[in-house]
Amino acid sequence: MNTQTVKNIDWANLGFGYIKTDYRFVSNFKDGKWDEGALITDENIVMNECACVLQYAQTCFEGMKAYRTVDNKVVCFRPDLNAKRMADSCSYLEMPVFPEDRFVDAVVETVKKNIDYVPPYGSGASLYIRPYMFGINPVMGVKPASEFQFRIFTSPVGPYFKKGLKPITLRIPDFDRAAPHGSGHIKAGLNYAMSLHPIVDAHRQGFNENMYLDSATRTKVEETGGANIIFVTGDNTVVTPKSSTILPSITRRSLMYVAEHYLGLKTEEREVPFAEVKDFKECAVCGTAAVLSPVGKVVDHGKEILFPSGMEKPGEITQKLYELLTGIQLGTVKAPDGWIKVIQE
Ligand SMILES: *Cc1c(COP(=O)(O)O)cnc(C)c1O
Repeated sequence: MNTQTVKNIDWANLGFGYIKTDYRFVSNFKDGKWDEGALITDENIVMNECACVLQYAQTCFEGMKAYRTVDNKVVCFRPDLNAKRMADSCSYLEMPVFPEDRFVDAVVETVKKNIDYVPPYGSGASLYIRPYMFGINPVMGVKPASEFQFRIFTSPVGPYFKKGLKPITLRIPDFDRAAPHGSGHIKAGLNYAMSLHPIVDAHRQGFNENMYLDSATRTKVEETGGANIIFVTGDNTVVTPKSSTILPSITRRSLMYVAEHYLGLKTEEREVPFAEVKDFKECAVCGTAAVLSPVGKVVDHGKEILFPSGMEKPGEITQKLYELLTGIQLGTVKAPDGWIKVIQE
């Protein structure tokens, strides 16, 4: 049991915004190797005006959370998968991989140094962890940087849903998220840059998120700007779209496992024609930020698909999956082996 006190923050009313914490991890790549890294207090980064990241967006990131469990441990969820995914992102972006075991160690050390910012059990809040890497030396001609910085900062974030799961509305946009054979499967800042206009436009028109279709044919469901999608069929099969241009969400992979092994449901990762969406019983989007957000409605250019679960409450399977996965994260439900990394006993 740790005896440390948590910071005096109004956890229940915390939003999802940047709050400076005390320490961040920094490691520099130069002359072909990573240095040993350090935990520092300065949150500002000074770089050349022609740094590769500023001119050509050579950067990728990860997102995960640390939680205080029911028995007051501090844990994080499957950080090895974030390490692996970041290695994949770096390889695609011609950046050096920060070794996966060192990634996990650095996450643990960064959270330990900011342990008082991990919200108390039961508050619904958590400590968001943001690893990221960027090319830092000046680059004029278009080529990868040769010097890189890997950093991890943390920020306490509030409960996504303050009063239970509230269904959201998605729209089918006139924009595409990811090109066939493009960068949709990696967690690159550039995928978010081009999603900013579509999401602001969706909000302006009263929708919560965009449900992107495949760019090549605009007939198959992909994902939203920052979350994967799951569906439930009339006979309780949990279905998620399969596509090489979807970002492989760790939350989604975990939910599919929980659906199969904890709820005994049939699961399918397969192509999902948009034409099939009207036949599903439930729909939800999933990612680290909210775990699961139920989708009540999808609007395709004025044509509405209202799921039987409706706009008032989540569907039954969505609710069960949410409770199980958050229970696993908070220590009230037994986790599969290797899913929980203890940061402080
Ligand atoms: C990060 C991200 C997700 C969610 O992934 P998690 O590992 O579950 O947090 C889904 N889609 C996109 C495009 C993302 O960038």
